Amino acid sequence: MTTAAGGTAQAGAQPPVLTVFVGLGANLGDRGQALAQAVHAMALLPATRVVQVSSLYVSAPVDAGGPDYLNAVAQLETALAPLALLHALQAVELAAGRERPYRNAPRTLDLDVLLYGDLQMDTPELTVPHPRLTERAFVLRPLAELAPQRVGPAQLAAVADQRIDRQQSAAVWCPGVLVSGAPSL
Ligand code: ADP
Ligand code: MG
Repeated sequence: MTTAAGGTAQAGAQPPVLTVFVGLGANLGDRGQALAQAVHAMALLPATRVVQVSSLYVSAPVDAGGPDYLNAVAQLETALAPLALLHALQAVELAAGRERPYRNAPRTLDLDVLLYGDLQMDTPELTVPHPRLTERAFVLRPLAELAPQRVGPAQLAAVADQRIDRQQSAAVWCPGVLVSGAPSL
């Protein structure tokens, strides 16, 4: 059987475990704490493990006003289906006080599914790869750190005019995540 994510599975077998990249962003409240808590919350999702986390970056808002963002990308392995993962991430956003008063509003926490295995899907609720992935330095720079094979030099050059600064390594802003995030697979 071919699965929606392009993997293979036997009828009745466990769902495939896929590599997923999640973009994290915050520009309201204690941004660093929100991102670190989000990483720990993702590590506790069912059938999910945090494999690695990028450095922390500071970026200017794109197509919006408001304070600078803190951004990072996390690499997960998960057996959650795409929509189940999206809904789980939205619950983590809500727990961090996320509100959506208008499009591109400042936010306490934003969690976007950037890549879900090699899956390509385009529905009103979920599009992967994320539709604006290639337009944003705050996604491409941390993603390139974790998965250089998935971000080309031309893509990075195309966003080189966007203000973004690498601030801290993952070991500094998110210490011990790989040991404290209890693997639940
Ligand atoms: P933003 O696009 O600025 O991240 P939101 O976080 O409010 O804004 O997301 C708006 C909607 O985008 C969500 O309700 C969600 O259904 C949809 N969406 C579509 N594709 C994705 C994706 N890959 N990751 C996260 N949300 C997505
Ligand atoms: Mg979002």
